[in-house]
Amino acid sequence: MRFVLRTHGCRANQYDSEAVRSMMLASGATEVATAEDADVAIFNSCSVTAAAEAELRKDVRRAARANPLVRTIVMGCAPGLAARDENINPLRTLPTVTESVAGADLELIASAVGLSRDASRSRRGVQTGARGLLRIQDGCDEHCTFCATTLARGSNRSRPMAEIIGEAESLADIHPEIVLTGIHIGSYGLDIGSSLSSLVEALIARVSTVRFRLSSLEATEVDARLRDLFADGSRLVPYLHAPLQSGSDRVLKRMGRSWYTAGEYESSIGHIISQRSVFGLGADVICGFPGETEEDHRETIALIERLPFTSLHVFPYSPRPGAASVRLPRPVGSSEIQRRCAELRELGRLKSAAYRATRVGGRADVVATAAGEGLSEDYLSVVIQVPGIRRRDRFAATLAEWQGMLTATPIATLSA
Ligand code: SF4
Repeated sequence: MRFVLRTHGCRANQYDSEAVRSMMLASGATEVATAEDADVAIFNSCSVTAAAEAELRKDVRRAARANPLVRTIVMGCAPGLAARDENINPLRTLPTVTESVAGADLELIASAVGLSRDASRSRRGVQTGARGLLRIQDGCDEHCTFCATTLARGSNRSRPMAEIIGEAESLADIHPEIVLTGIHIGSYGLDIGSSLSSLVEALIARVSTVRFRLSSLEATEVDARLRDLFADGSRLVPYLHAPLQSGSDRVLKRMGRSWYTAGEYESSIGHIISQRSVFGLGADVICGFPGETEEDHRETIALIERLPFTSLHVFPYSPRPGAASVRLPRPVGSSEIQRRCAELRELGRLKSAAYRATRVGGRADVVATAAGEGLSEDYLSVVIQVPGIRRRDRFAATLAEWQGMLTATPIATLSA
């Protein structure tokens, strides 16, 4: 069987796709690059915005035009969301789609592509990326009013710690960095009597050769143990992507993000970073949420100016079917949304550039992610100009500036 695999969306989806790829390859199937050459096409879908879902549907139609005989399976968030709302065009109406599987249940995907359910247990430990992805939980117990993901993925479900550690050990044989991911990793363990910090401590103790990175984590869910691990920075990299969404308490309330205020977010970040000069800090911000005033927008700008962000993901508000926010009054006009997004993106660009400038002349822990490219511990992309560095090599480096880019010159290997 020849298969093509396309992934839309977040790291959790990328992990699921790696698991599907691993299952297919372990079952003797061959991965091909295009639908033309495939018997089966698997699309891992994202529903976080209307644009993401439209991109998926366009991709499926494109594959169907290229090969009308291909059997297409759609997995991920779109099937979960479509199953909840009859107003959404069922994915099965798309050309060549024979199955849609909500989430990433490998047994269901195995039978959808025509493999035995046992195939879902045959996995290989290596992933295609330079860094290893490791999903630790699925779903979310929160109900942000704009969010489709919680609708599509259901409640929080943590993977058993022993299973995660076992998978991390095999990933560590190949990958110098492991990224812990999920839908809401801060809720890891709440359903099994554990916690994210306990898991990270256990991983650091049991898997000694790699550095660990947390994907997106709420600032107020970083407890004292995690703060200490961040402070050490050798095994848990000094990087946090903490969704902010808005700097206005009024808007946070309308978003249903009641577990923090802008002030609590700010003080949490202050405790986590606490004068560290090397720390990557990113955030998601939604622009133009229904009812957002210019004053709310200014509060968001002011908060971001006060905090040491090194990267900013700015999203225009996107009404999602089934999400409570679609019923909220006072929508913001699209040109106003675009203006606010542009202002925030420019602020993000300036803060990133200012932080990069502070790193020139400094030291970094770099993983080579591709030929001539690398990623530092604080999530800076660097250029590697010296020969002989292979993908997945990890090394200590000095940083310099060259034609507006950061270059990393190795001074010692950190690879196991
Ligand atoms: S925390 Fe909110 S935005 Fe994040 S997955 Fe849960 S409901 Fe969605």
